[in-house]
Amino acid sequence: MSDVQPTGAETVTWDLTDLYAAIDDPAIDRDLDLSDAEADALGETYRGRVAGLSAAELAEMLAAYETLLERAYKVGNFGHLSWSADTSVPAYGALLQKVTERGSRLSQKLVFMELELAAAPDEVAAGWLADPAVARYRHWLELVRRYRPHMLTEPEEKILAEKAVTGRSAWVRFFDEVHGAARYTFDGQEMTRDQVLTRLYSPDRDLRRRAQELVTSGLKDMSRTTTFIMNNILTDKASDDRLRSYPTWISARNMGNEVDDATVDALVAAVTSRYDIVARYYNIKRRLLGVDELFDYDRYAPLPAADKHYAWDEARSIVLNAYASFDPRLSDIAAMFFDRRWIDAAIRPGKRGGAFSAGTVPSVHPYILMNYEARPRDVMTLAHELGHGVHQKLSGVQGLLQADTPLTTAETASVFGEMLVFQDLLAREVDPKIRLAMLTSKIEDSFATAFRQISMNRFEQAAHTARRSEGELSAARISELWMGSQRPMFGESVTLTDNYAMWWSYIPHFISTPGYVYAYAFGELLVLALYARYKQSPAGFSDAYVGMLTAGGSNWPHEIVKPLGVDLTDPNFWQNGLGILAAMVGEAEELSK
Ligand SMILES: [Zn+2]
Repeated sequence: MSDVQPTGAETVTWDLTDLYAAIDDPAIDRDLDLSDAEADALGETYRGRVAGLSAAELAEMLAAYETLLERAYKVGNFGHLSWSADTSVPAYGALLQKVTERGSRLSQKLVFMELELAAAPDEVAAGWLADPAVARYRHWLELVRRYRPHMLTEPEEKILAEKAVTGRSAWVRFFDEVHGAARYTFDGQEMTRDQVLTRLYSPDRDLRRRAQELVTSGLKDMSRTTTFIMNNILTDKASDDRLRSYPTWISARNMGNEVDDATVDALVAAVTSRYDIVARYYNIKRRLLGVDELFDYDRYAPLPAADKHYAWDEARSIVLNAYASFDPRLSDIAAMFFDRRWIDAAIRPGKRGGAFSAGTVPSVHPYILMNYEARPRDVMTLAHELGHGVHQKLSGVQGLLQADTPLTTAETASVFGEMLVFQDLLAREVDPKIRLAMLTSKIEDSFATAFRQISMNRFEQAAHTARRSEGELSAARISELWMGSQRPMFGESVTLTDNYAMWWSYIPHFISTPGYVYAYAFGELLVLALYARYKQSPAGFSDAYVGMLTAGGSNWPHEIVKPLGVDLTDPNFWQNGLGILAAMVGEAEELSK
């Protein structure tokens, strides 16, 4: 490691004493025991009589519940963060195990509350929701209540839950095991599928083509199995939706994401109407790679990358300046992470890989973990995690139960923060070669989260619908639906080989969480569209933006974004975000000439 250039982040470690003094702090056990005792007391006071509570009594119960969770999550976060910073210390592992076990025991004790809240008669709930005493917990209560029309009787729910272990869950696990166990021999070497797939990122075209052929033959060998699993998942989903009276295959997922079907339809319509942007970009990529025809295995071929080195202090000022030029309130909060040691950025043996911002609890503050290597993408990661951190810090005022946002909007501040930094760096870069490298890597990232996920959503839509109307689907039929969803996105720009027809069969999301993929596109395009709006009319935008972050999860996403002048059900809103992508592709086109 001695020849590695210093990053300046070698001494950047966090200070967890805002949570507990050390892992042997006696307050840890005291808090765990206290949480247990409080959970028992809540059970004794309220179990069996939640539906009979007045609004004032309900507010009192929820306040006690929130205080209890705050204490329990504080211990849980401390265990998790200590272990993340050094997974090689057995005492940290033991602490994490302890807080996890105690946490699961605690949720068992408290589960009655949400069940009884959901089961309360509608007129009782309407009284609660209308009462100002419950205002602080209103949306949380709405979320607990919204599954009520889709809940079955208690004995039915029990049977479904028990049979799912050998039903749906078993198929998901079998899928993972089948793919996990598969071995491929590449150039005489035995490897896993993912190891072969990394060859798709090689500059050597022959290597890429052979990797694609090898993976395809593996997928074909497994096709009877994966087709059978896929059919079972599609059928299981159809019975579930019928039994629980969901109008479409995607409705239950949309409900979890706190968006209505019309909003998702508007997003999908907007993205599929701009597939021309994808084709335009791959035509540029084909020229840059110097090939006559671009095949599916060429899509991830590397282009020249911007390999600048950014020392930690430089990254810090880049991000803080970009945030400050948008709104000083954001950079003021972001600066706290550096000044008060809320970030751990050093690379150490035993430390967890990757990056995250842990919100911990509103009474403390978030902590960020990352592994800083001084590459351009590390600056983006810093911008991303600080976005989460600022969002978590601002939304803390909503209290623990209503601070967090659903999946669809959880990435708003992080991706927006990245966009601010990216545009700032791009504006300051004069070398056309580096500008082109920056643009192509940003475009490819955005494509992966926006266009690719929507094309996969179109495949899911086709497969779920076909299973419901046509009965059991053959491998050939599923492949046909797959190619029918992928071809329109690439147009004439990428030649999809016949081999590609089997590539639906290894994507785990289709099996484990049907309907999930569009949420990635939702988050990415929401931010691009917000950024477009900001560029069009910057006056007052940042006030509304800070207001949106501060609202956390205290209302439905479409209500929270309203003050920004956004109507999520309007396809034109999503077009604004796509316009930004089109402009970036246009700029890449110019620079590539
Ligand atoms: Zn994130």
